[in-house]
Amino acid sequence: MRRKLVAANWKMNGSSASNAQWVTAWRRVSPPCDVVVCAPFVYLAQVGEALAAGSAQLGAQNLSEQTPGAFTGEVAGEMLADLGCRWVIVGHSERRAMYGETNELVAKKAARAIALGLKPIVCVGETLAERDGGRTLEVVSAQMAAVLAQCTVAQLAEAAIAYEPVWAIGTGRTATPAQAQEVHAAVRAQLAQADAPAAQRTRILYGGSVKPANAGELFAQPDIDGGLIGGASLVAADFAAICAAAK
Ligand code: PEP
Repeated sequence: MRRKLVAANWKMNGSSASNAQWVTAWRRVSPPCDVVVCAPFVYLAQVGEALAAGSAQLGAQNLSEQTPGAFTGEVAGEMLADLGCRWVIVGHSERRAMYGETNELVAKKAARAIALGLKPIVCVGETLAERDGGRTLEVVSAQMAAVLAQCTVAQLAEAAIAYEPVWAIGTGRTATPAQAQEVHAAVRAQLAQADAPAAQRTRILYGGSVKPANAGELFAQPDIDGGLIGGASLVAADFAAICAAAK
């Protein structure tokens, strides 16, 4: 039985004041699932301290594939671990699309995180053109194959995969539970080809316009083990309601 996991991706949002309000509201929540809050780099120390000893773990939204050194503007996984991060998102579609992250770079980042004891939330997903062209499973499978070339399924079982159709992120357009389940099952089958027991333990999250109103139906699918939540995670009450749907 996989325990559900719900992760907040605050993206490039927040301020010292709004973060403090969010955490104050969150302290009243007892989620029935594992919870991760992925805050912007500059607020990790603040949010980590505020969440300490509570019901959510700290995560970052990206890391460098490099070891510390002369990489101006980058953030090393060592630094994230030093600040108390347990999790880190890699390969979010915004980074793939806007910052040119390739399947191979995403895989390197996942491997780097694992080597440092961080748990990557590895994002995969197709664009609308790819879905309309009937290429969803092919695209997601290629993204997963790149990761599996550098990480074992047993390692991914300690971390998480997030299936996030690009056309559903921040658009208000959610994949139907059946559409999401189809891809989640395909991802698990691909993992199982390498290591069936570890594939059964691996949590595969869905992301893309998850809201309190649609979370329950998505999370009820057999291969959907929780969610990666963008916009709706910015309001603590909405995020708490989504977590409550992950019973
Ligand atoms: C995300 O950023 O990972 C995401 C799923 O965003 P949203 O929930 O806003 O679609």
